[in-house]
Amino acid sequence: MAIKKLIPYSKQWINHEDITEVVKVLKSDWITQGPKIEEFEKTLARYVSAKYAVAVSNGTAALHLACLVAGIGPSDEVIIPTLSFVATANCVLYCGAKPVLVDVYEDTLTINVEDVENKITKKTKAIIAVDFAGHPADWDKLKELAKKHNLILIDDAAHALGSKYRGKMIGSIADFTCFSFHPVKIITTGEGGAVITNNKNYYEKLLSLKHHGIVKTQNLSKKYGDWYYDIKELGFNYRLTDIQASLGISQLKNINSHIKRRRSIWQRYQKALDSNHLIKLPTEKEGCFCAWHIFPIKFNLEVMKKNRRQVFDELKDAGIRVQVHYIPIHLLSFYRKNFGYKTSVFPVAEDYYKRAITLPLFPTLSKSEQFYIIKKLQEVVQ
Ligand SMILES: *Cc1c(COP(=O)(O)O)cnc(C)c1O
Repeated sequence: MAIKKLIPYSKQWINHEDITEVVKVLKSDWITQGPKIEEFEKTLARYVSAKYAVAVSNGTAALHLACLVAGIGPSDEVIIPTLSFVATANCVLYCGAKPVLVDVYEDTLTINVEDVENKITKKTKAIIAVDFAGHPADWDKLKELAKKHNLILIDDAAHALGSKYRGKMIGSIADFTCFSFHPVKIITTGEGGAVITNNKNYYEKLLSLKHHGIVKTQNLSKKYGDWYYDIKELGFNYRLTDIQASLGISQLKNINSHIKRRRSIWQRYQKALDSNHLIKLPTEKEGCFCAWHIFPIKFNLEVMKKNRRQVFDELKDAGIRVQVHYIPIHLLSFYRKNFGYKTSVFPVAEDYYKRAITLPLFPTLSKSEQFYIIKKLQEVVQ
């Protein structure tokens, strides 16, 4: 076989300019808490058509801070989809609140808004929706529901930087939008994340909480001396470094190419696999533009000789490191043990989980690698 190296399901795309920009910062006076942070935040906010961005150390920290600033605390409930990375639920627990899981829509794999409505109680404070694989959640319905019940909307957009919903950028819709810049995501800073908001009060709280809760103003300095600061709320060290921010700025310059490549890989898969009755492909709904973080397919297991595990292992043996996104959160031991979740309570997410595999999709995946994946997949499922 011509292709010997392993093909991962995803990986970063770093170009020479990215490297030059990082080296510049390494040679400068500020490798953290310097000017690149604000430059990255401003560039990012502009890109997603929002007022404010706060860069933090990772996407999970972004979710944690968004929940805290949303006022989520003990005795509150937060409704989230069971089909997500576990960070979406963990961040609610970090605030002492209860994550209330619901099922997803079969077509977009995003949170089922009718199920959300059924789970709303007096304790419900917020909804965290996930733009799964880059496909926007049903934001019109979510906004209507949030307005009706006075709930805060948090967008876990770790998959969806650059996606659009009815002409609006993801980042400009929810009260808080959280991004991740892990190497498998749309752009990377190594580790990294950001919270986006249009609310100045939220913005100032986010800035303070990512830096221990420190409040430092000109008034305080004038009154007590230049060294003086105060702490009014318990914060964290969730800072991103200037080294990482410089990589982020450089990656953002190139984000349109990142997304263009992701979308053309998506289209090539669609074209090649559409007629295969053993495979169900992800869809892009009208009015949505997806940055496509991952390419999750479902197998028509009833008419196949092999099961998902066999397909997964055989592709792996052929050098194709497919993945499964995700084990539904309610099936993880910690969530079963602490919240009493049982199997079969969320049929759509569970059915998806039984059948799904994520095919490789990342900007530097070559055409020949992709044709190899398509050919192998078709052989293996035969
Ligand atoms: C990646 C991811 C996160 C967490 O991001 P990190 O930067 O890895 O902390 C949260 N939610 C979803 C849906 C993700 O895919």
